Amino acid sequence: MIGTVVGAATAVGAATAAGAAALGIYYPNASLVGPVVGRGPRRRELYLTFDDGPNGRATPAVLDALDEAGVPAAFFMVGNFVRRHPALARRATEAGHLIGNHTTTHVKLHWSGPRRIASELDRAHATIADVTGRAPLAFRAPHGYRNPFVSRATRRLGYRTFGWTFGVWDSDPIDAAEIRRRVRRRLRPGAIILLHDGDGYDPDGDRTPTARALPDIIRDAREAGYRFRPLTALLD
Ligand SMILES: [Zn+2]
Repeated sequence: MIGTVVGAATAVGAATAAGAAALGIYYPNASLVGPVVGRGPRRRELYLTFDDGPNGRATPAVLDALDEAGVPAAFFMVGNFVRRHPALARRATEAGHLIGNHTTTHVKLHWSGPRRIASELDRAHATIADVTGRAPLAFRAPHGYRNPFVSRATRRLGYRTFGWTFGVWDSDPIDAAEIRRRVRRRLRPGAIILLHDGDGYDPDGDRTPTARALPDIIRDAREAGYRFRPLTALLD
């Protein structure tokens, strides 16, 4: 295993794009650059996850919808946005949702070196711990892009790294009805569902269509016999 990691680290330095793809760098659930959880047990259970917040417009609406339906979720937050909206990060924590580290500036990590990667993860870790009073236990890489230095940092921080089973490109300019349809079509047992309550590159980005779709997404899934489980169930 150690041999594999070292080999991959060496290869990354000289890799072509094709070589990087072969190493699994572009695949959110590839385990070649470190272990990652991309799906839960194949039961009629689902895991909701929201990336790129907190966001002043969408996050409160997402939290309202989750609260209303009694559904747990995980939020992979951007450190700089936690600084902007500390009350939202605290509200999500107090509601019992899992807060994960999604880097400080939402940089794509796959071509970054060890120092930049450590800084991106460590600063977000400290911010989340400081603001919410709880050290994060989970990590998701922006776009799922990782390399062996990312694995080294997540191991040091004691994180479980998460990918996702499916996303629905809810960052496309599409309306809530289309987001709902896309999720409904892709539901499958044990799925970790990737949605967005923020925009990783624009703190004022509009993710309200996702928030508006959420009550119907939850209703559709329950009508299809699914129940929602907290991502914390997959931490160990
Ligand atoms: Zn992201």
